[in-house]
Amino acid sequence: MIRKHNFSAGPAAIPSQVLERAQAELLDWNQQGLSIMEMSHRSKEFVGVAQKAETDFRRLLDIPDNYKVLFLQGGATSQFAMIPLNLATENQKTAYIDTGMWSTKAIVEAKRYSQVQVVASSAARDYLCVPAQSEISLDADVAYLHYASNETVGGVSFDYVPRTGEVPLVVDMSSDILSKRIDVSQFGMIYAGAQKNIGPAGLTVAIIREDLLGKAQSTTPKMYDYKVHAQAESMSNTPPTFAWYLSGLVFEWLLQQGGVEAIEKINARKASKLYQAIDGSGFYYNKIVSANRSLMNVPFNIKDSALEAKFLQLSTDAGLLNLKGHKAAGGMRASLYNAVGEASVDALVNFMQDFERRYG
Ligand SMILES: *Cc1c(COP(=O)(O)O)cnc(C)c1O
Repeated sequence: MIRKHNFSAGPAAIPSQVLERAQAELLDWNQQGLSIMEMSHRSKEFVGVAQKAETDFRRLLDIPDNYKVLFLQGGATSQFAMIPLNLATENQKTAYIDTGMWSTKAIVEAKRYSQVQVVASSAARDYLCVPAQSEISLDADVAYLHYASNETVGGVSFDYVPRTGEVPLVVDMSSDILSKRIDVSQFGMIYAGAQKNIGPAGLTVAIIREDLLGKAQSTTPKMYDYKVHAQAESMSNTPPTFAWYLSGLVFEWLLQQGGVEAIEKINARKASKLYQAIDGSGFYYNKIVSANRSLMNVPFNIKDSALEAKFLQLSTDAGLLNLKGHKAAGGMRASLYNAVGEASVDALVNFMQDFERRYG
């Protein structure tokens, strides 16, 4: 068996140690004679697994006690609707920052349930940077400010946390949660689909300050109401038990690596190696303003774009998987989430240098 280097943007790499552990206990979890995915979500065994996952996740991000952690379904995309449905009234203004594809999708959906104001945008700068704090002007009566801390497709990332005064700050951290330390108390709500930097697809994690619960619009479906999930410990209906369990194993793995502080250093080193290889080449390029370059998703192109198809073919043949850019962006993209080891980045950099020598 050979595990290849996986640079997928999502669903993305999961640590081999985690998959091996899951494999070892797949048929018979903890001598119970059945797998974790075959038991009741209300059994004391599964509730124990679920609570351990939450405890470890809270430890990793140092989540204060006045925040609930919800284990939801429907992907980050469902949050695009759930956020206005829970945090705003239909006639209330909501504020959004537009930095690319995912924040735009959030804006389009929120317009169906609130009065959206796009308070800052980098669209006119081709999304090669994020707006500066000084560009964000907020009316005091907006329900919240929403932004995406890392644009997974564009490869552009905030290098600061927007200041909003009393206005709750809501952030889509789908592609950079757990990649670096954050101060949770700066946010009203943080959410992330699991399939990038947490675990398998099917689970969405939300961290919500308690005072923001219980304000859902009257027509909000019960399954879209944060308070319902908070009161039921995310077991209002059957949760995605296997994804929750596996994410718990990833949290344990991350704690064993030294937690977020340790992985943050590794992530910085990985990204810096790749950007240096791109910038130092004269053959490859990345146009994102350097302060806003994503450490998680690194899009790049070849100056002679006719060579990109060959690059993608030969890299796949060499065991470097999923380097094709998003269909809206073209070119290449290497996603360097926590589970992508430094050896994978080294292999990619070596391949890129070798490719340039042969075709440059
Ligand atoms: C992938 C992604 C989403 C969408 O996630 P789904 O789980 O597919 O709904 C939203 N926001 C960001 C930043 C993403 O990277």
